[in-house]
Amino acid sequence: MHKNTGWLDLWPGFHVTDSRITHDSAWLRLEPLTKLPLRCGQCLGLVESVHERVTRNVRELSLAGRTLTLQVQLLRVDCPRCGHCLQHVRWLDRFARMTRAMAQTVAQCCKRLPIKHVAQMFCLHWSTVQQLDKRSLAGLMSQLPQPQPTHLVMDEFALHKGHRYASVILDADTRRVLYIAKDRSREAIRPFFESLGEAGCRRIQAVAMDMNTAFDLEVRHWCPRARIVYDLFHVIAKYGREVISRVRVDTANALRNDKPARRVVKQAHWLLLRNADNLKDSEQVTLQEVLEANEALMTVYVLKQSLKSLWTAHDPWQWRRRWKQWLAHCAQSGIECLQLFANRLRKYWPGILARVRWPMHTGQLEGINNRIKVIKRMAYGYRDVEYFFLKIKAAFPGNA
Ligand SMILES: [Zn+2]
Repeated sequence: MHKNTGWLDLWPGFHVTDSRITHDSAWLRLEPLTKLPLRCGQCLGLVESVHERVTRNVRELSLAGRTLTLQVQLLRVDCPRCGHCLQHVRWLDRFARMTRAMAQTVAQCCKRLPIKHVAQMFCLHWSTVQQLDKRSLAGLMSQLPQPQPTHLVMDEFALHKGHRYASVILDADTRRVLYIAKDRSREAIRPFFESLGEAGCRRIQAVAMDMNTAFDLEVRHWCPRARIVYDLFHVIAKYGREVISRVRVDTANALRNDKPARRVVKQAHWLLLRNADNLKDSEQVTLQEVLEANEALMTVYVLKQSLKSLWTAHDPWQWRRRWKQWLAHCAQSGIECLQLFANRLRKYWPGILARVRWPMHTGQLEGINNRIKVIKRMAYGYRDVEYFFLKIKAAFPGNA
């Protein structure tokens, strides 16, 4: 039996025959143990004869802080099925320039760190790191089961700083990102429905989305049985932009001669838009003071809460009462931007009411949007949209 080099027996099927170590690098020469049964690297079948020996330099994970290079002697075998082929090596992929352990560790780091950092950590070129991450993610994705969604959520997000957008479709029940496409047109999401097929489209019962998108027409075309649901997150965000921010600016402008009061109103921007439950006690007090001193702000703030309550109605009757009441309050408010907002929202009522029947957890959208922003920052600079989309899909593989 062959006696191995003790603690350096880290590469099954090979033994260390030479080594060189400096203060920052290590180099080991590896030779195959020929007595083992040999397998063909292509068909994995057993082979009996060796054609020739070739040498390949392969990167391995650092050894005691030193960059480690393996000079591996590999056997080209005579495979009765494939001809001359490299031998199968468990810890080294067929054409790889680094060991499988290193490739896995690099891909693991890419989950948490930007490519640039990972490349520095392992002394690799960023494109190498990106390739490794891509391959690993694609492998993970291919292991996921075929999705069978019944409730969908559709959304869009900014792709670059310019105004290019991407569409994202997720399974509302499992939180799995099913599809991402450049652009936010009907054509952009069409391949998703085509791939679902007729039976898959028939299974879809409800689809949550933002108002004012092209998505509803496409959904109606493919899934005639699906109900369109407008989600709270988008409606409230829109209310914040079009009503609360507008009234805050007007209020601040009206206080031109009262500098301190004006400053307080201007600084209340964030307090007004955040969910009241997430504010600290001191912030609650400040918010309350601002609201009490400014009637219009108080009105739009209170009406934001009652708008939200439409999404928690227990039955269509309760919903209808709240909706009528909300519209009436808006009409009576005398606040122009609020009246405008309410009038525009009015025609979307079926999609808001549908939420009572189809309670979907679209609150996830806010979290997903934030996560996409983080991924975008990490993948930023490479302009590889395909990779960016793959990262998003891998971040939301679903929980069912
Ligand atoms: Zn073979």
